[in-house]
Amino acid sequence: MGVAVGVGGCTDEGGGGGFRAGAVDVGDPYVPGAGNGGYDVDHYALKVRYDPTGKRLTGQATVTVTATAALSRFDLDLAGLTVDRVLVDAAVAKHRRAGNELVITPAHGLPAGKRFVVEVSYGGVPQPLHSDELGDGGFQTTTDGAIALGQPESASTWFPVNDHPSDKATYDIEVTVPDGLAALSNGVPKGQSTKDGWTTWRWSEGTPMASYLTTLVIGDYRVSTGTHAGKPLVTAVAAELPADGPAAAALARTGEIADFLADRFGPYPFDAYGGIAVADERIRYALETQTRPVYGPAFFRGDRPNTVVVAHELAHQWFGDSVSLARWSDIWLNEGFATYAEWLWTEHDGGRSVAQAFAERYAATDWTKPSVNPGRGAMFGPAVYQRGALAVHALRRAVGDETFFRILRGWLAERRDGTATTADFVAYAERIAGRPLGPLFDAWLSGATPP
Ligand SMILES: [Zn+2]
Repeated sequence: MGVAVGVGGCTDEGGGGGFRAGAVDVGDPYVPGAGNGGYDVDHYALKVRYDPTGKRLTGQATVTVTATAALSRFDLDLAGLTVDRVLVDAAVAKHRRAGNELVITPAHGLPAGKRFVVEVSYGGVPQPLHSDELGDGGFQTTTDGAIALGQPESASTWFPVNDHPSDKATYDIEVTVPDGLAALSNGVPKGQSTKDGWTTWRWSEGTPMASYLTTLVIGDYRVSTGTHAGKPLVTAVAAELPADGPAAAALARTGEIADFLADRFGPYPFDAYGGIAVADERIRYALETQTRPVYGPAFFRGDRPNTVVVAHELAHQWFGDSVSLARWSDIWLNEGFATYAEWLWTEHDGGRSVAQAFAERYAATDWTKPSVNPGRGAMFGPAVYQRGALAVHALRRAVGDETFFRILRGWLAERRDGTATTADFVAYAERIAGRPLGPLFDAWLSGATPP
């Protein structure tokens, strides 16, 4: 999806012929400064090398872009790091930094509709992005390597990017690390090669991916490569976690849980499966990084495998990854459905029924807090997750099981590889159900009193 309209930055700057600067962000108030205007990225080809000894990353990003406006200059998001050179269509382009923006002025204006290639050579010691409300996201060094992970922002800490889910793109990612370390990322494994003490791991995600769903995990991991349903399945468990412990046992059920969800949501949307269990205690969450969710160690305490978190992150492969947010204020569209998938899986796995989960959560809900547009600081709060799931079940009760699952499957098929808003979902549900559902969603998602 294009992001031509944004706030600020639209000053005329040289070039003539109607060429203007692209906007400095997409105007999403939940992530000020994130994303950019005036173009749409089609593909990222990333080659990064990481040396854990000096904590230094060097990178070469080749970004294939289509202009959606006539551009005299444009921005990519890049936090920290030093840019050595920028080429636009193989010609040297001027570049400068403005905070976390990389401002690029090509030698000539770029007409609307033009496809062009940006090559950025860069390097440095990556740093995470800090948020007082949401904690650290992005590149974090670990004792044995690094983890690049975070929502709503993380990608700009390790490569130049249009860092907003409204601009999805395909990726080829090559990561070079010292021999003996694993370098995991998204998508289909494309093999490894070793030279002079360094090993390059290659990954390819050929289905459009939102930038916050990229990940890079480098370190000492037990990597298991197999296939499931004819597609590669790559799981990795940090070497410091037990080989027969709960994290390994939970990840081993990835294929089974994905199949359970596919029976309800429709075909699994990507060309690879997987999961990564990290041991670093600073990762206090799990994230649905595309094809290969990353799980923090807190989910696997004790001796019982936690398959509920696996069901949650795998449900996001449909809700969030395949059908993505156009803006962060609709994050319940991701989390409400992923939480509902936890309820479905728990019931299937012999635990609490969906009806029990609904009743318990209904009683515990603070109805003054809305699911839609909850505020940046409440993006990961119970109104988004639990109240969102209540709304999903309210829809099911209103339209019946057959229509409910037809809505879910049809929505996911129609919006596959795209982005959507709450209004889009409500309109789709109304079309399939054949009756107005706006008042129901308003009451369950945003009403200030119990429905
Ligand atoms: Zn989630």
